[in-house]
Amino acid sequence: MTTAEIIRMVLLDDMTRFYNSKAWKNVRAKARRRDNNECQLCKAEGKHSKCEAVHHIKEVRDYPELALTLSNLFCVCKVHHNREHPEKLQKQKKKFDNEERW
Ligand SMILES: [Zn+2]
Ligand SMILES: [Zn+2]
Repeated sequence: MTTAEIIRMVLLDDMTRFYNSKAWKNVRAKARRRDNNECQLCKAEGKHSKCEAVHHIKEVRDYPELALTLSNLFCVCKVHHNREHPEKLQKQKKKFDNEERW
């Protein structure tokens, strides 16, 4: 998948296609392995919880060229992922539970 293709998905608001892509699933699996399948923010607090989402540090919409870059990703639990997206929580409560969305 090229950056141009990702940009097109962003413009068409077709992120489902991105999150369903093989390229994303590959890099997501790598991030989970690297992070030991644990929430990195819980870990920083000395706790352990399962990785429930792989978060983009720089959002795909703003940095499509970093969408598949491992160093732009880290594992989070649901609680921490929600905290990383306070603006979306208000607008898109329904999509909130879907770890693939963001
Ligand atoms: Zn956490
Ligand atoms: Zn996220």
